[in-house]
Amino acid sequence: MTTNRYDAIVIGGGHNGLVAAAYLARGGKKVVVLERRPLVGGAAVTEEMHPGFKFSVFSYVVSLLRPEIIRDLDLPAHGLQILPLESTVTPMDNGDYIAGWADWDETRKELCRHSPRDAEAMVEFGRLMQHMAMAVKPILGMVPPDPASMSPGDLKGLLKLGGHFRSLGADRFHALYKLMTMSSADYLDEWYEFDTLKATKSASGIIGTFLGPRSPGSAYVLLHHYMGEIDGAFRAWGFQKGGTGAISNAIASAAKAHGCEIRTDAAVDHVLVNGGTTAVGVVLKNGDELRAPIVISGLDPRLTFTKLLDPKQMPTDLIEGIRRYKFRGSSGKVNLALSALPNFTCLKGDKELAARAARGAFSISPSVEYLERAYDDAKYGQFSRNPYMDIVFPSMIDPGMAPPGKHVMSAFIQYAPHNIEGGWDDAKRDAFGNAVINTLERYAPGISKLILHKQVITPADIERITGLTEGNIFQGELALHQLFFLRPVPEWAKYRTPLRGFWQCGAGTHPGGGIMGASGRLAALEILGR
Ligand SMILES: Cc1cc2nc3c(=O)[nH]c(=O)nc-3n(C[C@H](O)[C@H](O)[C@H](O)COP(=O)(O)OP(=O)(O)OC[C@H]3O[C@@H](n4cnc5c(N)ncnc54)[C@H](O)[C@@H]3O)c2cc1C
Repeated sequence: MTTNRYDAIVIGGGHNGLVAAAYLARGGKKVVVLERRPLVGGAAVTEEMHPGFKFSVFSYVVSLLRPEIIRDLDLPAHGLQILPLESTVTPMDNGDYIAGWADWDETRKELCRHSPRDAEAMVEFGRLMQHMAMAVKPILGMVPPDPASMSPGDLKGLLKLGGHFRSLGADRFHALYKLMTMSSADYLDEWYEFDTLKATKSASGIIGTFLGPRSPGSAYVLLHHYMGEIDGAFRAWGFQKGGTGAISNAIASAAKAHGCEIRTDAAVDHVLVNGGTTAVGVVLKNGDELRAPIVISGLDPRLTFTKLLDPKQMPTDLIEGIRRYKFRGSSGKVNLALSALPNFTCLKGDKELAARAARGAFSISPSVEYLERAYDDAKYGQFSRNPYMDIVFPSMIDPGMAPPGKHVMSAFIQYAPHNIEGGWDDAKRDAFGNAVINTLERYAPGISKLILHKQVITPADIERITGLTEGNIFQGELALHQLFFLRPVPEWAKYRTPLRGFWQCGAGTHPGGGIMGASGRLAALEILGR
């Protein structure tokens, strides 16, 4: 018989909800996770969308997952196995390519082909970005102190942060300030001259954001993507064996090992509130009631405060803040089941090089102007006719993702605006998919003929399937005005809410999106009082 009384209820089995649940269960609490879909993971799921072909439907690569979570939850024992992505190859419009390899010397040699000056600059740039990532790293692991607050906890946090920034020294602090405020293209202009290199690097600054490479603020998103590490190597991105769903399953397995219960097909309708002040449980869509003194939402801020609760019972400031909080989903995804690997013209039929490159990523970012024009389309309410793409072939890294000799291809696409003129419908989804395939045809002619199955995902689909408002991949834009003590809104940035016993733990809280788990962990530690 299932019981309906718990110490803590986690709403939403996204990876952050699962991390929060695992920490709470490890802390001795009796926890249940309630997930609306038939499977856990949210935007980190693997599904067999065509017989024998497994797609990491949404998120596809990993780097940001906090090492302390991997350690604390012993995730490798539960199936976490991150395989390195060896390279990034960017096809150029003149038929050549530029590659970055895992081996620095090799990358340097490759860069020398295009610009010896940039090859020199790369060493210093790499060092600086590593220092910047180290500078921000402690902030990822702390509850953000509010500079407007005089509480002893905030003052202590601010003092700690001030000390940390002082220890960086003037040069690094100034570099950090620039990264926080500049556009990625302008920032990279200060370092490099070779346009395709700048385009490929600046692409990290536009992912998931309604910004172009020349928009101020994109340099911070670039830094956000540099903050990941795998086995201590900063900036390294990898592929989870079995796809990103296997990361969620590993966290879920760790949570269960600590006694946590996970219910799927269990959509929460609303939070039960006692006397207008205290959360005491939830009511499911099927009418079932579950009770607990701690209720945690892993949903994004809009769903948390306006769907799970009656916004009329929340402070006006908070609801106004949530109304202003920017989602503006701008990304799509195209997943393909292929009968064979496509041939990229730039690799000139070199089979060995092609196989090696296909174990890494391909970036469709031939120039900064190309990216900026892709953004122009989105700015004026259209999907990009010639989009930016980040492509990986998961089956080349983990053969279990496709039947022998066949392949899966994952293409992350920017830009596909949620607020497309006239709204998304089936015809627009088809047209968007065609724009992606037509662009691919230019760099890998004949790819269309290899397609056995195609899954085209628009921001409206992301919202419908995962619940992510407006399809924003980070549960809200990673813009400076909604980061740190402002995420999601001032005064409610510490995982707390105006209701006693009701907490937030999704990527819409500090430090934000990506498969990072940091929000879930920090929320759980706050709840446990550690
Ligand atoms: C297309 C795409 C590509 C991405 N690529 C990458 C990548 O390669 N690498 C990377 O690090 N990050 C990537 N991201 C971002 C990353 O996946 C997300 O930021 C992260 O997974 C968010 O996790 P979360 O647990 O905070 O929220 P979510 O994953 O949004 O989880 C929320 C959960 O709540 C559930 N839910 C919603 N409503 C209810 C309800 N009423 N009752 C019960 N459950 C409910 C949802 O079904 C979902 O499972 C990508 C995201 C997308 C969409």
